[in-house]
Amino acid sequence: MRNSIKNIIFSAARFLPFNYLKKGKYPTLLPFYHTVEKKQPQYIGGYRVKNEQQFEKDLDFLLKHYEPIGLNDLKNQQNIPQNAMHISFDDGMKSCSNNIAPILLRKGIPATFFINPSFVDNSDLFHRFIFDMAKKQKLKLSEELKTYPNKASLFKQTEVKESILENNIKNTAIYMGMHELKQLNREGFTIGAHSMDHPEFYNIEPEEQYRQVKESMQWVEKHFNPSAKAFAFPFTDYGVGNALLQKIHTENLIDISFGTAGLKHDNFPNHLQRIPMEKKHYQHASRILKYEHFYFRIRGLMNKNTAERDD
Ligand SMILES: [Zn+2]
Repeated sequence: MRNSIKNIIFSAARFLPFNYLKKGKYPTLLPFYHTVEKKQPQYIGGYRVKNEQQFEKDLDFLLKHYEPIGLNDLKNQQNIPQNAMHISFDDGMKSCSNNIAPILLRKGIPATFFINPSFVDNSDLFHRFIFDMAKKQKLKLSEELKTYPNKASLFKQTEVKESILENNIKNTAIYMGMHELKQLNREGFTIGAHSMDHPEFYNIEPEEQYRQVKESMQWVEKHFNPSAKAFAFPFTDYGVGNALLQKIHTENLIDISFGTAGLKHDNFPNHLQRIPMEKKHYQHASRILKYEHFYFRIRGLMNKNTAERDD
């Protein structure tokens, strides 16, 4: 749908009470975040990070309207309440164990953390962090370097240009290590995979897509042996065909997989869509969910509430 129409819907949704909008049948609510920080880190340009206070306000709103469930219940889909939600966190950043987990524990909310094995213990870095940081530092880079297939040349170019990048990212531990992941696991949270090193799946070949899923899932299984094997596609599941989903589900690499298309059904069984809770500008959860529910209703009138993909 065109952006201008989306904007009109978005503005209209603000004025409707959420209690009214949430009535009716919707897919299970699956909100997801990345990190919670005091201030916006320089290496994150894609979304506005929430601070602890804003994050807690979101959770309080979610808890008022929804009942949190664990990943196993979501997987089994048995006897889950109509207003169930499962919350998750992508990219495995340090704030997950430092800031987020303590809040979730205090409020009694189960969650899944989707991590990239290559980044654990800060042995590698997400290419977008380097790119966004370089832009912040006013380095002139071609837009081509933004996406995965050019990761090596991005790293090379930024390294020779300025050492400031290294000081700001490479020498700072931004990711969790094994120690923190084990702690999350002990605290009852689920660890899932998010590909090895976070490529745009729409930019890589199907064989590479498969390798990214397989190796990251095997890594998680080896270290955490989760009872529900979960994978969240990095960025989006756009560019992922039914053939790959079929393969990774039937080979038993995963039990449940996730996209980021918002409040939406999916025509592939055990592949679910999550709602991004961090936007370009700060928005409280109520505003995001009002929009998602209102948009779902409008699409419902046109029978467009199911994500479909090519073979
Ligand atoms: Zn991610």
